Amino acid sequence: MRTEQKSTYRVAVYPGSFDPVTMGHMDIITRASKQFDLLIVAVLNNLSKNPLFSLEERKDLLRKVTSHLPNIEVDGFRDLLANYVREKEAQVIVRGIRSVTDFEYELTMASTNHKLNPDAETIFMMTNPKYSYLSSSLVKEIAHFNGDTTDLVSPEVDAALRKKFNEKAGL
Ligand code: ADP
Repeated sequence: MRTEQKSTYRVAVYPGSFDPVTMGHMDIITRASKQFDLLIVAVLNNLSKNPLFSLEERKDLLRKVTSHLPNIEVDGFRDLLANYVREKEAQVIVRGIRSVTDFEYELTMASTNHKLNPDAETIFMMTNPKYSYLSSSLVKEIAHFNGDTTDLVSPEVDAALRKKFNEKAGL
């Protein structure tokens, strides 16, 4: 017979640039949302990365494409991730892994975050092989040259990309 366990509200943070959110991110968000009571998708306001979309635009797109999921909160942060996670009382940091290159970088980040906030555990979710090549940079490159991004991003993001590059081209 199973003994009754103390129930705890499980909160995870999925941090990233999301410039813009892709089907690869969506796949991780959908799968991670099933593992936690609340998944906070936290958009990094990293000025040094010179994003295509503003923080508000990135958050707005994330809210639109995750509106069908009941336990997602979209937020922005510019603090150290370890501090942000503590402030949100989250137990877990979720990151996606596409390749060995991702792994090397993520290992450093996870070790650093563990040093700064030992209460938070980083967990890695392997990419869906369908999206293993997919990145926001690739999507922007394709959209910049007017290529077809329909299978790579949600329709809302596709429209936002077109609008953004048309504006840039003065159309
Ligand atoms: P960052 O600048 O923090 O890497 P990204 O928006 O590029 O922000 O990525 C956020 C997270 O999503 C990272 O953990 C990244 O590895 C993961 N990710 C990005 N694209 C994919 C994908 N196609 N499949 C799985 N995980 C992905």
